[in-house]
Amino acid sequence: MGIIVQKFGGTSVGSIERIQNAARRVIKEADQGNQVVVVVSAMGKTTDDLVSLASQLSAQPSKREMDMLLSTGEQVTIALLSMALQAEGKNAVSLTGWQAGIETEDRPSNARILNIDTSRIVGLLDKENIVIVAGFQGMVEKTREITTLGRGGSDTTAVALAAALGADRCDIYTDVTGVFTTDPRVVASARKIPSISYDEMLEMANLGAGVLHPRAVEFAKNFQVKLEVRSSLAEERGTLVEEEATMEQNLMVRGLAFEGNITKITVANLPNGIETLSSLFSTLADNGINVDIIIQNVVNESTTNISFSIDSSVLGETQDVLAACQQELGFESIITEGGLAKVSIVGSGMISNPGVAAKMFKGLSQKGIMIKMVSTSEIKVSTVVSQADMVKAVETLHDVFELDVRQPAHQL
Ligand code: ADP
Ligand code: ASP
Ligand code: MG
Repeated sequence: MGIIVQKFGGTSVGSIERIQNAARRVIKEADQGNQVVVVVSAMGKTTDDLVSLASQLSAQPSKREMDMLLSTGEQVTIALLSMALQAEGKNAVSLTGWQAGIETEDRPSNARILNIDTSRIVGLLDKENIVIVAGFQGMVEKTREITTLGRGGSDTTAVALAAALGADRCDIYTDVTGVFTTDPRVVASARKIPSISYDEMLEMANLGAGVLHPRAVEFAKNFQVKLEVRSSLAEERGTLVEEEATMEQNLMVRGLAFEGNITKITVANLPNGIETLSSLFSTLADNGINVDIIIQNVVNESTTNISFSIDSSVLGETQDVLAACQQELGFESIITEGGLAKVSIVGSGMISNPGVAAKMFKGLSQKGIMIKMVSTSEIKVSTVVSQADMVKAVETLHDVFELDVRQPAHQL
């Protein structure tokens, strides 16, 4: 007998029929003698609908009230799934994030899980209950405020619980059959990856592959949680996320990730000085602005141009912060270029294959796609291109790296 954590995303619990389908999956695990903890998301597009309600009242609703509002979505699902299980004669108990002992930091809308007091869950499991926990939410211990973990955060609840409970497995049930070479809803020839390493998955998730919440992958890696991403409807094995991915032949690039809504900002003619760069980026960081790719171009002996990319949603804030420090830092002007996207290739095989970036740039240039910024690490190369070129770039690179070609399948 082991502990299994199962997580069902929004589409997988989007209707009463889907909730009953999820219940059958849960019962199957429980009937094999396992102790089962289930984490669920809000039904279907509930969270988006709640965000939209809030936006009708305020352009910038308070983060605290947003957490109060959005956390209600998951509470509906836990109760309904628990009822579905009880209707099938099972003992089931639903718990909100705080009832489940999920303690987070005090950062509304984007809180990290700090600790999980599993005593209540363990007690319920020991009394032969199936425990259903609301994903995406927790509580600040000191203030008893409800927090949420950032969009897509139910994955993180599931993996963190699996880690805290020492679960044998964490299965993420979603609306695709696994992790694909790229988003299968965008590239028709995308192929399911049988196994991917934690590091590759972390890069993919951080670079925009929405199939897993990045912090869920971080937890899985840090606590060596056995993770499988699979379909809640199809009866087929999914993608294993593990320490060492099963080697596929000649594989340099495991997958492609992409995200739009990026703006490039150039701070023009910044005086050269030992501390100017650090002052510029410390000021941005102190104001909570997340900077991604940074490029420095030396203009002449005394000045330099610094370009960096940000999420377009923080453009206004970034411009305000820069305007406020313009005089102190002494730069001439700010140039912004919106409507950009980031397209990245990811694969641990890149470390030993020096030609990968060149192949990527050549593939894009042959299709007339202009690269505006580049950033690399040992296992990824990211390019910033025009958002209008994003899908073409993803399709091109999918072909260039032959990601549609079937690799030898691993043994499950
Ligand atoms: P859930 O509600 O189950 O958490 P999400 O919508 O958060 O589901 O994540 C699943 C979606 O992730 C898929 O429908 C797909 O469009 C998207 N996706 C993006 N990149 C990938 C990828 N590389 N592989 C699989 N799905 C991806
Ligand atoms: N319901 C939340 C969201 O839509 C959390 C999740 O689904 O993981 O972002
Ligand atoms: Mg999700």
